[in-house]
Amino acid sequence: MTHFVVEGLKATIEGKEILKGIDLEIKGGEIHAIMGPNGTGKSTLASALMGHPKYEVTDGAVSLNGEDVLEMAVDERARAGLFLAMQYPSEIAGVTNSDFLRSAINARREEGNEISLIKFIRQMESKMKELEMNPEFAHRYLNEGFSGGEKKRNEILQMMMIESKLVILDEIDSGLDIDALRIVANGVNSMRDEDRGFLIITHYQRLLNYIKPDVVHVMMQGRIVKSGGPELAERLERDGYDWVKEELGITD
Ligand code: ADP
Ligand code: MG
Ligand code: MG
Repeated sequence: MTHFVVEGLKATIEGKEILKGIDLEIKGGEIHAIMGPNGTGKSTLASALMGHPKYEVTDGAVSLNGEDVLEMAVDERARAGLFLAMQYPSEIAGVTNSDFLRSAINARREEGNEISLIKFIRQMESKMKELEMNPEFAHRYLNEGFSGGEKKRNEILQMMMIESKLVILDEIDSGLDIDALRIVANGVNSMRDEDRGFLIITHYQRLLNYIKPDVVHVMMQGRIVKSGGPELAERLERDGYDWVKEELGITD
């Protein structure tokens, strides 16, 4: 059973403090959503958790199933089961999607226990079908010339193929039309089980019509300022963020 804990996490970018003390506890089977205005540090949180070198963690603790995440290098975090689907996935010239995926899977496995080519292809084909992706995407260079929506689907394909314990999705809904949104949401829902927790970062409530969160957090100015159930997301969609600011006496 997955247990992911973030305590008092602070992080800076180029000397500027962006995360000002984040607390989170996600158990296997749970879906937590983080919503918040642009520029409040949501992507910074995702990157800091993954160990992106640009972000310096200055205080706090992060653990996954009792293991100290902050002590781990980036590749160790991935092997431990942290997975991030990025807001802006990068293009990698000269590496095909399927090559990338197979190395990503094998990098997380013990030597001698690599996935067989046949099994890999079978799995990839079936997941791509589920995500209604054109089979030719397997052989295209990673994200090169992919549209926004195709990149997002591709991130979800990776999520579905790579064993993970804590999945972070950063604005996976941006650039998706309603049909693609439903397909992506189905992919996420199919991965929901007690060994896996989810942290879903989203600017808009509409994604949460398809992926039902257990907990919704509001992030502002580098802090989680409010947490509640799905009804909180609905209120934010209806009324925006100003009422939260007023309630908490935040001025900007
Ligand atoms: P969100 O995802 O909530 O929109 P971000 O985490 O992307 O917010 O950004 C939070 C703040 O950190 C913003 O003020 C942004 O300008 C700043 N920031 C993010 N990434 C960088 C970076 N690589 N270099 C400098 N400042 C950054
Ligand atoms: Mg943003
Ligand atoms: Mg962001």
